[in-house]
Amino acid sequence: MPVVFDEAAVDSESLLRVENLSVEFGSGPRAVRAVDDVSFTIGHGEILGLVGESGSGKSTLCLALMRIVPAPGVVKSGRVVFDGRDLGVLSVRQMREIRGNELALIVQDALATMNPVTRIEEQIVEILRDHAGKGTVDRKNFRERALRALRSVHLPNAELNLRRYPHQLSGGMQQRVAIAQGLILEPKLIIADEPTTALDVTVQAQILSLLREVRDTSGTSIVFVTHDLATVAEICDRVMVMYAGRIVESGTVREVFKNPEHPYTKALLSGLLPLVGEPPEELDALPGQPPRPEDWPSGCRFHPRCPVYVRLGKPDVCRETDPNVDETQSHWAACHFANQEV
Ligand code: ADP
Ligand code: MG
Repeated sequence: MPVVFDEAAVDSESLLRVENLSVEFGSGPRAVRAVDDVSFTIGHGEILGLVGESGSGKSTLCLALMRIVPAPGVVKSGRVVFDGRDLGVLSVRQMREIRGNELALIVQDALATMNPVTRIEEQIVEILRDHAGKGTVDRKNFRERALRALRSVHLPNAELNLRRYPHQLSGGMQQRVAIAQGLILEPKLIIADEPTTALDVTVQAQILSLLREVRDTSGTSIVFVTHDLATVAEICDRVMVMYAGRIVESGTVREVFKNPEHPYTKALLSGLLPLVGEPPEELDALPGQPPRPEDWPSGCRFHPRCPVYVRLGKPDVCRETDPNVDETQSHWAACHFANQEV
């Protein structure tokens, strides 16, 4: 069955449009909502950074975009429109074609996604063969393309490494192979979920400049999930800050870094609240851990940790009312006091 284009969903400026997406794990009264009513867009060739403490729902959101949320997770509501197609209504086969072909996911632990007993060459050739159709064997051509893919990610000794098994490569090399695998079919969108977290600083920098190069040369759009705000400032065009399953601030990197509006973003940028590890032992460090989905507070989910809430004498509105946002603005923050000097 041909993929049906939803005319109404075509939006020439955005490659991806996410509308009111919610994802839950489990069902019934014990269901846990990990992503709650999230909406955003990604333009062609845009690099969008996604940051937030552990448990805020970043990975679940990435998996939902790929339509691979593992059971007992389910997309409860919302739409993901990718290049004019509503991914939620496609068949399993159509979705499989889009994944890899047009939409690629690169995760933190590249090794875990590879078959340990298969050489690198075979891992890459398999992708090409799947794409070309089962039974297609054009070994020489596939091998050439695999080599080219490895060279394009600046993997040293590509010929030699093609013959190696995953565990014989360093972490940085494994990640390069994973990126080469993600790129080989020239996807329109790459979702990179903390692709450099496990790597040392030098290799991280190399992988990041590689992703940037891919965008610059191929116009690929990238969702880049990271714990590292400096990296966001360096490689992203726009940034979204996630807290307790929601986007709490969104804007261009310049807008958000120069003029953060949400107290949570301000705390992250000022270092009061690190994205990883323990807060510094200063008196004004923000208290507590981010809430788990089963314990999300009422009203603004950040209020129990919010210095502005305390400074303003704990106004009822923060406890009682969900902040309303105008998501059509270039820069917005989900805070009742976002634009006020407090
Ligand atoms: P992040 O990537 O921001 O660290 P995740 O998306 O991994 O956050 O997790 C968000 C929340 O979703 C977790 O706190 C957890 O409650 C829930 N969650 C994630 N994966 C599962 C799962 N496989 N089963 C049940 N709950 C899950
Ligand atoms: Mg994660």
